[in-house]
Amino acid sequence: MRILIQKFGGTSLSTAQARECVIQHIAREKAAGYATVVVVSAMGRRGLPYATDTFIQYIRDNGDSLPPREMDLLLGCGETISATVLCSTLRSRSISASVLTGAGAGIYTDDQHGFARIKRIQPDRILKLLQEEEVVIVTGFQGVSPLGDLTTLGRGGSDTTATALGAALGAEIVDIYTDVDGILTADPRYVEEAKPLTSVSYAEICNMARQGAKVIHPRAVEIAQQSRIPIRVRSTFASGTGTLVSDQSGNHVPFVTDRHVTGIAQVSGVTQIAVEALDNRKDMQLQVFRTMAKHGISVDFINVTPSGALYTVFDEQAAKALELLTEAGFHPKSIPSCAKISVIGGGMNGQPGVMAQIVEALTEQGITIMQSADSNTTIWVLVRESDMTKALRALHTKFGLHR
Ligand code: ADP
Ligand code: MG
Repeated sequence: MRILIQKFGGTSLSTAQARECVIQHIAREKAAGYATVVVVSAMGRRGLPYATDTFIQYIRDNGDSLPPREMDLLLGCGETISATVLCSTLRSRSISASVLTGAGAGIYTDDQHGFARIKRIQPDRILKLLQEEEVVIVTGFQGVSPLGDLTTLGRGGSDTTATALGAALGAEIVDIYTDVDGILTADPRYVEEAKPLTSVSYAEICNMARQGAKVIHPRAVEIAQQSRIPIRVRSTFASGTGTLVSDQSGNHVPFVTDRHVTGIAQVSGVTQIAVEALDNRKDMQLQVFRTMAKHGISVDFINVTPSGALYTVFDEQAAKALELLTEAGFHPKSIPSCAKISVIGGGMNGQPGVMAQIVEALTEQGITIMQSADSNTTIWVLVRESDMTKALRALHTKFGLHR
């Protein structure tokens, strides 16, 4: 049996017209001889009645007092709705289809409600239905806890469902259908010139996803990488085959080796905090980061020097962070509304001049670099959010990503 996983995101399912495209992709692959497992997200985005964010807002408006276990029951509803609606549409076209929930599909997780981790998958029921030539629709994002409660897998959880099922079923490929033509060289909401990448390695895309490119969840990429199952990120609404994510050394695709920079990603809404060292506080660095950890404030972009510590937190957590630091006797300074830009490339390693090009691109635009750091595969710069779009575009052009 040649198994194919097809995952459809929120916008791909939100209207009858969009679902029409979804059905064509399913029918085409079935006709090509694949046993198909279809993983669905909740319909639409924030504001639409059955979107996950709408459910969250509903509970917030209601006093925000629902415990995580009960919250998961609500959060999982969006996928149940889109799966059943899709099932009925397929059946009305005489394509026989069945729906399985996360539990029904044998997706066993731990009990961390809201961000559960998959422990194991028992795919017997899926396999049986596939043998009966059913299209198996699985509600994405859902699992089941050891106690039998519904769990959800966190943001981008349907991507994880798709690749985890791909791994458990030994699928030939996992197709992630979305509203863009593939993985683009930058976020199309800021860089109109962003171009779809034909092929990328798991490592590159995992890195881009971690640095803010929301097109696919990094956890989903890790799972596919471990099982060496290729992923295709492609458009529900266009006919192209999108971006193939596979192993650099694998034989699925000739890998592009002459590329220093693959793409650019960004995370906005961060505050830069600077804490100066005090003569009487030798343990200052330890104190600062212990305080942050103790209060669950996640820190990023950390620069520690003998003269002090520089780091970022999300804007929402900044006030709390500053209050804690002041209470601890420090005199923190902060700059809110910053953006961390990541320039990512598997071929960047050992290439002199990438940083120089970044500095050049940003200086030409009069953009101040507030902080920077680099690794083998990524260079990060912190800029003001008001400079972010200009910075993304300048870097995109400087590295010739529009070509
Ligand atoms: P889905 O609902 O299909 O899961 P998502 O919203 O999770 O869709 O992901 C697709 C969106 O990711 C695109 O519409 C685009 O705005 C955004 N995006 C951000 N960075 C990138 C990138 N580098 N390539 C493609 N899309 C990106
Ligand atoms: Mg998504």
